[in-house]
Amino acid sequence: MKFTILGSGTLVPDADRGSAGFLVQERGANLLVDGGSGTIMRLKHVGVDARELDGGVYSHRHVDHCADLVPILFALKVGVELPRTRDYPIWAGDGFHSFLEGLYATYGAWIRSDKWATRVTELSLHGPSSDLLPGGVRLDTLPANHSAGALHLRFISPTGFTVVFSGDTGPNENLAKLAEKADLLVTECAVPGKDPWDSHLSPSDVAAIVDQAKPRRVILTHLYPDNDPVAAVACVARAGVPVERGYDGLAVEG
Ligand SMILES: [Zn+2]
Ligand SMILES: [Zn+2]
Repeated sequence: MKFTILGSGTLVPDADRGSAGFLVQERGANLLVDGGSGTIMRLKHVGVDARELDGGVYSHRHVDHCADLVPILFALKVGVELPRTRDYPIWAGDGFHSFLEGLYATYGAWIRSDKWATRVTELSLHGPSSDLLPGGVRLDTLPANHSAGALHLRFISPTGFTVVFSGDTGPNENLAKLAEKADLLVTECAVPGKDPWDSHLSPSDVAAIVDQAKPRRVILTHLYPDNDPVAAVACVARAGVPVERGYDGLAVEG
């Protein structure tokens, strides 16, 4: 299974870091994980045409994590060279279906087709959920501490390679639970110090989660500009696990 960072940034404009976007690839299946603005272009950079995606998994519904959903659904309708006839599946927290209905109310036929349908599988915001994704990847989720239907995501390949992804979250026991002994934890580390709204993680928060879960490797993403990346990495590294700041294009395979 290959996990690629498409966008390691935030909603703050940055010439080198796109909004949150990630790609899981296994046995020929291409699964988008989140997808803020610019994701379609960044997919092309790593050789994937969004019209060939086998599905999308969303950590939550904030714009910096899902803004390219409309362009993707629009793109699925165009291009004679790639006429889509199979459904487009989406996995996301409870409420995503009505979110999609709202997009249909705005964009109508531009993002719908009579040749394929967008199928949403909603995952619990109150407890654990699991499902099997294309490529034989197992998805496990637990609720995150964030708004807009947020979940922590764990992807397990058929051979057992395990990647845990935190979209946005405040300090939360569930992330440590899900990341226990994972091969890779990709986590947000948005703020430099304790978030007064408890909806994002600081380096100290991430260090505590890593100390408890002991994943084999940690990648920090989603750092706001006031969060010094060198200090953040040094802080998390005190938990005794290899840690680095992610960048757009970074891929981990296992
Ligand atoms: Zn975010
Ligand atoms: Zn968010």
